[in-house]
Order: sequence, then C-alpha cells, then structure tokens
Amino acid sequence: MSSRLVMKFGGTSVADLERIRRVGRLVAAEVRAGHKVAVVVSAMSGKTNELVAWTDQAGPAADGLPPSDDEYDVVVASGEQVTAGLLAMTLRNMGVPARSWLGWQIPIISDDAHGRARIDDIPAEALGAAVDSGQVAVIAGFQGVTSDGRITTLGRGGSDTSAVAVAAALKAIRCDIYTDVDGVYTTDPRIEERARRIPKISYEEMLEMASLGAKVLQTRSVELAMAQHVPVRVLSSFVEPGEADPANTGTIVCDEEEIVEKRIVSGVAYSRDEARITLLGLPDHPGVSKAIFSRLADAGVNVDMIVQSRSRNAEIANMDFTVGRRDAARAVELMNALKDELGFEEVRLDEAVAKVSVIGIGMRSHVGVAQSMFTALADKGVNIQAISTSEIKISVLIDAAYTELAVRALHGAYGLDQV
Ligand code: ADP
Ligand code: ASP
Ligand code: MG
Repeated sequence: MSSRLVMKFGGTSVADLERIRRVGRLVAAEVRAGHKVAVVVSAMSGKTNELVAWTDQAGPAADGLPPSDDEYDVVVASGEQVTAGLLAMTLRNMGVPARSWLGWQIPIISDDAHGRARIDDIPAEALGAAVDSGQVAVIAGFQGVTSDGRITTLGRGGSDTSAVAVAAALKAIRCDIYTDVDGVYTTDPRIEERARRIPKISYEEMLEMASLGAKVLQTRSVELAMAQHVPVRVLSSFVEPGEADPANTGTIVCDEEEIVEKRIVSGVAYSRDEARITLLGLPDHPGVSKAIFSRLADAGVNVDMIVQSRSRNAEIANMDFTVGRRDAARAVELMNALKDELGFEEVRLDEAVAKVSVIGIGMRSHVGVAQSMFTALADKGVNIQAISTSEIKISVLIDAAYTELAVRALHGAYGLDQV
C-alpha cells in the first residue's frame, strides 16, 4: 500500500497520440520501479475550450427557464473520457495491464454545484484493489458525480484536484503533476524568461500563488493537498523516462518546516481575470457596505479588493471593488438594482485591470516588502489603483496594459531573476 503513486498529466501532455505514448512510457517506468499506479488525465489541450464553445452556441436558457448547468457538465466532461480510454489502450499495447475509470465509475462523489463542483467523497476500495493487483487505473480527471447520479465537473483546471483527491483517498506516497513546464517557477516563465524553478515551495505559498493567478496548479488542489498532507511534485512530461535527474527535477510542494531556505519573496503572480466596479457619489452612512456586499454575496459573486474613498464632502464617498471578470456584468446589474435604495450617482465598470502579487512566507518576519514593491512600480510609471495584503502576500491592482512590465519589474526588484 505504501507504494501507491498518483501521476497526473495535463492537456498539453496528452495533446496527441505521440504524446500519449510518451506518457505511457513514463507510467510504465513507474510500474517497473515497483509502484502501484493510478493516472489522472486531462482532456487533450484545446478540447475543453472547444466543448465549452459548443455549449455557448447551444444558447442560454430561454426566458423563464433555468440554465442547463447540469447538461453543460455532461458535455465538457467528455474530453477526459477520450484521453482516459486512449491512454489505457496505449498502456495495454505496451504490455502494461490498465483500465480506464470515469468519475462516476469510481465514484468521485461531488456536490451539485455544476461547473465548479467540490468533491465530497471518494470510496476507494475498488480502485485501490485494482491498483494493488497491478492494473494501472487511468482516471478521467475533472469529472465528478452527484449522489443522485448526475455528472459534474470540478471547475477549469480541475484535473489537478481530481489527482490530489485520488492520492488522498488511495493514501498514495505522492501525487506527481506532470505538465508542460518542469516545475513551479518564481513567476510564469511565459512572461519572464529569467524566471527560476523553485525546488521546494510550502503549501501556503503555493496556495497564494495559485489563487493569485499562477495556473500551474488549481487552487483547490493545493488546498486539498495541504489539508490532507499529500506531498505534491510538479514536473515536466516532456522527457523520456530516466532522462531527467530525479534529485534535481521538478518542484516539491510540502510543509514549511521542510524548507531550509526561506526567501522573503518566493514568487510573483498575476491575474487578468479581474474587473473593477466603482460606485460614484455614494452617500456614506452605516449599513451601506452591508447592503452592497450582502447583495453580491447572496448572488454568489466573490468580491476581492475593496477601497472606499471619501470626497471633500465627508458624507459622499466612492466605493471601488473588484470581482472576477466573469461575474462583472452580473455585479453591475445587482448594483444598478440598488441605485435608488442607496442613492449613489453612477456605476462604472473597468475590465482593463490586472492584479499583480508578490508572495513569500519570509514576509511575516520582514518589513519593507511593500515599500520595495511600490518603489519598483513607481520607477516604471505604473499607477496603483488598489492594494490588498495578507501575512504572506501583497497584491496591487493596475492597468492591464502594464501587467508584463509590472511582473518583470517586481521579479527583478526582489532578486528573483536568473543570473
Ligand atoms: P496543464 O495543461 O498541464 O494542466 P496548465 O496550462 O494548466 O497545464 O499549467 C501550466 C502553465 O502554467 C505553464 O505553461 C505556465 O505558463 C503557467 N504558469 C503560470 N505561472 C506559473 C509559475 N509560477 N510556474 C510555472 N508555470 C506557471
Ligand atoms: N480539461 C479541463 C480544463 O481544461 C480540466 C483540466 O485540464 O484540468 O479545464
Ligand atoms: Mg492545469
């Protein structure tokens, strides 16, 4: 039991049959090394987007009818079925016993929040027995099933969460997340070529990195790994077995105590998935914030940064807050519905904003981190529209046009550049 291993392969790693064969070789190598393996696969890259586009074209619900979120899940979950079957087939052709498992067959039981479901339970007896018998379990990631048998999906990037959840359920020694980069970097290597691979990162920092935009791991997968103490390793699938030096490869996500070198700032993340909403000329009295943010919360709209600024006239304020881009239109609608009750002048929406964040556990014990951030941005002429902080991160909201400039400036300012 102690040698159970979960390996997860993302969309680019299974993008065509040649890559699926390479994945097969990586899996076969772990089997030969004595591991009992469960593999979690994503859909081929681009597939989920294509499926989402089909559901968009099928049209929104007609007036008065509820949206078909449950059928959306039936459509978009299908991409992972294809790759699970293809990889199981490929492994068999290589002489490695394997079978595919769809979410409902395990079952990966989730709640019924279609499109962003959370896993409630994974009864792992049958899966564990199959894996222990030497048959590789090839699991379709991203998929769940409600207790009454409806297909769900776990949110974009959700195969990471499937993998960590399966690793926890199987009590695997580790969850290896294979992707198109060879680890977690100090920032997105697509934006800053001087980014460096981080050999070890704490769950907490990884959680902040993920939730602040580094999409290398889905946020929930990190939450789950942290709660269930699943060691996670991020590594590249673009190598042949035995090619990479195992002592010097990938990123281990682990407890803070296991990290010797604690940097003040470990990484820089960015998110363009932001929208800023401004309520202009808002009469300021007790209960105003409650009215605004309860209305948004009741509608399931997540609010991130909030800034209230007084005008010269102390009774009138402006309120700025940010929401996810996808919720922006709804948030504006909800605010417009409050206009008469609260008596503000106007609602404004700005979608050309981005959030850039610096993250590091060393911030807890160091001062001056924010000052260096503001200095680096000022030097580049980047204006800060809002700020939010926690114990181990500082985020700023800026004009989206300056995202890359800001990321690179901060990466350099905190000494993260590769030399
Ligand atoms: P997969 O399809 O394997 O799940 P994703 O595209 O979801 O892969 O995640 C990998 C991508 O995450 C990388 O190609 C990289 O551009 C991006 N990324 C963003 N921030 C980081 C970071 N800090 N470290 C590594 N990759 C990052
Ligand atoms: N295929 C799904 C997506 O693109 C899940 C995943 O890749 O993790 O979001
Ligand atoms: Mg991913």
